[in-house]
Amino acid sequence: MTGNRIVIVGGGTAGWLTAAYLAKRLGADRPDGAKITLVEAPDIATIGVGEGTFPTIRSTLAELGVSEARFLRESSATFKQGVRFVNWERRSENGKSSEYFHPFNLPLRPNGRDLSPYWLLEHQAGATLPFADAVTTQGAIIGEGRAPKRPEDPDFQGPMNYAYHFDAARFADFLRGVAVEAGVTHLKGKVDGVTRDMRGDIASIQAGELGTIEGDLFIDCSGFRALLIGEALGAPFKRVDDVLFNDRALAIQVPYETPDAPIDPYTLATAHEAGWTWDIGLDSRRGVGYVFSSRHTDEARAEEVLRGYVGRAGDGLDARLLKFQTGYRERQWIGNCVAVGLSAGFFEPLESTGIMLIEAAAVMIAEVFPLRDRAALDAGARNFNRLMAGRFERIVSFLKLHYGLTRRDEPYWRDNADPATWPEALADLLAQWKHRPVSRFDFLVDLETFLPSSYQYILYGMNAATDFAPVAGRYDEGAAARQSFAKVAEAAREAVRRLPPHRQLVEAYYARG
Ligand code: FAD
Repeated sequence: MTGNRIVIVGGGTAGWLTAAYLAKRLGADRPDGAKITLVEAPDIATIGVGEGTFPTIRSTLAELGVSEARFLRESSATFKQGVRFVNWERRSENGKSSEYFHPFNLPLRPNGRDLSPYWLLEHQAGATLPFADAVTTQGAIIGEGRAPKRPEDPDFQGPMNYAYHFDAARFADFLRGVAVEAGVTHLKGKVDGVTRDMRGDIASIQAGELGTIEGDLFIDCSGFRALLIGEALGAPFKRVDDVLFNDRALAIQVPYETPDAPIDPYTLATAHEAGWTWDIGLDSRRGVGYVFSSRHTDEARAEEVLRGYVGRAGDGLDARLLKFQTGYRERQWIGNCVAVGLSAGFFEPLESTGIMLIEAAAVMIAEVFPLRDRAALDAGARNFNRLMAGRFERIVSFLKLHYGLTRRDEPYWRDNADPATWPEALADLLAQWKHRPVSRFDFLVDLETFLPSSYQYILYGMNAATDFAPVAGRYDEGAAARQSFAKVAEAAREAVRRLPPHRQLVEAYYARG
C-alpha cells in the first residue's frame, strides 16, 4: 500500500491536535507532503472539557512552530506545575485536612543518590517536612503562588517543569487555526458511511453532501462514538471500571470574585465521599468538576457535593453532566485506521492523561510516514498497539495508586482500598515498596507515562506504610542527605524571590503582540 492522503474524522482536541502536528511534521504545505483532510460534523458537539495538561505539551506546541504568547492568549491558558491533592489520605477533621503535592519537577538526586530512603528514615524519626518539599523547590513555589518561569525566559522553557491549563473550546479553535495555516483541508459534514476494500481496509468514507472522501490512512477522532475503529471495524473495548470506578463528571465554570484574583499554578484535586473535584484556574474563571462513581452515589447527591464545594460563587450557574465509560481498545490501529483521543480510550481526568495520549499517538503516527510498504505499515500498527496498550495499562495502575492507599472509610474509598480491586502489577509493587525504595527497574521505561518519581510523590505523599528499619544500616549517608535537604530549602527560598506571581506572568504574555 502506498499513499500520503490522511483523512481525520472529528474536530475536537484529538482531531485538531493530530491534524496540526501531522501537518507540521509531514509538510502538508509542500507539494510532496502529506495531504491532510479533517471532516467534522458541525451538529455533533465536542466533549468541551479537558483543561489540564502534562509537560509534554510544551514540546508538542514548540513543534507546531507557534509562539508561547500566541498559544497562551488564544487558548486563555495559564501555567500548571503539578497537582495538589487534598483529603485523599484522610477526611478533613476539625478543620485539619491531609494533603500532598505531585510536582512536575523531578526530585533532586545529588550525585545520583536517591534521597527517598533518607527522607523516610527522617520522617519515621519525627521530621515533618513533606516528601515533595524535601526533594524539590516546586512545592514552595506553588505554595507562594509563583509562576514556573520569568517573562524573559525562552518560549516553552523555564527553571521549573510545567504544563498548562486552558479553555478547551478555545484551545481547539487555536489548533484549528494552526492546522489550517499549515495546509490542512477543513470540511464540515457528518460521516454516515464507510466503504471497505477487499482486504478490509477503509477505502473511503461518505459524508452527506460532501460525498465520498478517499484516503490512505484514516484517523478516528470521533470521540466516544468511535465511528471508524469501533462501529466500522469492531475493535473491542476493554473496560477497566472494576479498578477505576469513576464514570460521571459534573462540570461548572465559576467566575472569580475579582478580576485580579490570584490564579493557582496547579490543579487542585480534592477528595469527596464518592469521587474528587478538579479545580483549575484560568485567567477569568475557574473550571471545576466533580468526578464520581455512579455505583457509589447518585447525580442529585453529586450535585450537592459539587455545589457544597463551590459555595456561593456557583449560585445560579448550571452544572453539566458528562457520562463516560472507563477503558480502552487494545487494538487502536487496524489496517489503515488508527484511533486517537476518546475513540481509543479514556479513564478519568486524574493526572490529565487524555491530551498527553493524543500527543503520544500523533508522534508515533508521524513516524510511520510515508506509507510505502504494506509490511512496514502492518508492523508499525502492531508496534503502535503494543506501545499504546502498554501505556494505557500502566496508567490504570498509576491512577489506582492514588486511591488504593487511602485511609478514608466511606464505601467508595473502602472499595478502592480493597486489594481485590488493584491490578496485580500494582499490588506486587506495593508489597515490595513497603521494604525498599522505588527503583527504576520496577518500570519498562518506554511504556511509562509516569516516571518512578511520580510513584514516589504519590506513595510518600499518601504516607504509605513502610518498614525500612531492618535495612537502615544500608543508608549510611544521612549527613550528606540532610545537607541536600537544606540546599533544597535554600534554593526554594531563592526561587520564590526570583519568580513572579502567576497572574503577573500570564498577563505579561497576554499583553505581547
Ligand atoms: P470530542 O471532543 O468528543 O470530539 C469528537 C469530534 O468528532 C467532534 O468534532 C464531533 O463533531 C466529531 N464527530 C462525531 N461523530 C461524527 C460524524 N459522524 N461525522 C463527523 N464528525 C463526527 N484530558 C486531559 O488531558 N486533561 C483533562 O483535564 C481532561 N479532563 C477531562 C474531563 C472529563 C470529564 C472528560 C470526559 C474528559 C477529560 N479529558 C481530559 C479528556 C479530553 O477531554 C479528551 O481527551 C479530548 O477532549 C479529546 O476529545 P476527542 O477530540 O477525542 O473527542
